[in-house]
Amino acid sequence: MNQALKFRPAPALVSFIFPVFNEAEGLPFLRSTLDTWLRYFPEPVEIVLIDDGSRDGSFGLIQEWAAADSRVRGVSFSKNFGHQMAVSAGLALAQGDAIIIMDADLQDPLEVVPEMIARYREGYDVVYGQRSEREGETIFKRTTAWIFYRVMRRFVHPDLPEDTGDFRLVSRRCLDVILRMNEQHRFLRGLFAWVGFPQVAVRYKRNPRQYGETKYPFWKMAKLAWNAALSFSTLPIKLITACGFGTAALACGYGVYAVVQKYVFANTVPGWTGLVVIFGLIGGMILVSLGIIGEYVGRIFEEIKHRPLYIVRDDTGKP
Ligand code: UDP
Ligand code: MG
Repeated sequence: MNQALKFRPAPALVSFIFPVFNEAEGLPFLRSTLDTWLRYFPEPVEIVLIDDGSRDGSFGLIQEWAAADSRVRGVSFSKNFGHQMAVSAGLALAQGDAIIIMDADLQDPLEVVPEMIARYREGYDVVYGQRSEREGETIFKRTTAWIFYRVMRRFVHPDLPEDTGDFRLVSRRCLDVILRMNEQHRFLRGLFAWVGFPQVAVRYKRNPRQYGETKYPFWKMAKLAWNAALSFSTLPIKLITACGFGTAALACGYGVYAVVQKYVFANTVPGWTGLVVIFGLIGGMILVSLGIIGEYVGRIFEEIKHRPLYIVRDDTGKP
C-alpha cells in the first residue's frame, strides 16, 4: 500500500456496533466482558446494539443495559432483516470518529481493537480483521468460505481481502461515503473495498462461539454470497452470453453436418435425437438467460442505485 497516509489524532469517540439476533444467552457475557475490558480503554466509547428482530428477549436485555449504562444505545427492528441490514443501521447511528463492527458473540476478539486504533491513527480508513485461524467451525463452513473468497477475488471484487468477515474498524470519512450508498442488496465488505480508501489488515485468531449457536445458517450464507456476486458485477450475464454463442456455434456446426449428409451423401438422417438435444439445449439456455436477466431487471426496479459517482479522498480546501 503506497498511498500517502496522514497521521490522525486519537479518535474523540469510538463506536462499537453489535448486530444482535437471538443472542439472549450470550448478551450477559458480552456485557460483562465489555464492562471489564472498557475500563482500561483510553478513548471515550459508545456501544450501539441493533436487535435484528430477535424472538428470545434479547431486546429486553439490551434495554436493561442501556438503562444502566449511558454509553449504550439499543435499537430493535420490527423483524429479522438480516445481519447486513443490522450492521447498516448501526453504521447510520454511530457518532464516533472510529467505528468498530463486531459480532455480538465476541468471536472477534477485543484484544485486536487497540491495534486497529493504532493503524487508524497511522491514517488507514479501513482496518479489517483477517482470520489466521478459525477454531470451532465446521470443515464445511471453512471450505465454503475459502472457495467464496478465491472466486470473488478472481472474478468479482479484486480488492476484496481474503478471509475477512465484517469485523473491522472504519474511519468517519469512509463511513460517510458508505452512508451515501442506499442500495438494497448490500454486501458491506464489498462496499468498503469499493470506496478505495487506504485499507490494511490486522491478523487475528477467531474464537469459537461461547454461547448459543450460529445465526448464519447455510441459506443465509448462500444469500450473502449471491448478493456479493450480483450486486457488484455483470459477470453472470457475460457468462450467459458466452454460453449462448457456444450453443449457437454448435447448432451451426450441426446444421452444416446435416446439409452435407443430405445433399452430398444423400443420406437423410432421421435426426430426431439431434433435434431433441439441440432444442433442449437452446430452450434451457433461454430459460437460464431469462432468469438471470430477470434477476438484474428486478434489482434495477428495486433500486436505481444511488451510489456516489466518485469519492474525494483528500481536499486541500478553498484557496
Ligand atoms: N446476526 C444478525 N442477524 C441475522 C443473523 C445474525 O444480526 O439474521 C448477528 C448475530 O447476532 C451475530 C452476528 O450477526 O452478532 C454474526 O452472526 P453469527 O455469529 O451467528 O455468524 P457466524 O459467526 O456463525 O458466521
Ligand atoms: Mg459468530
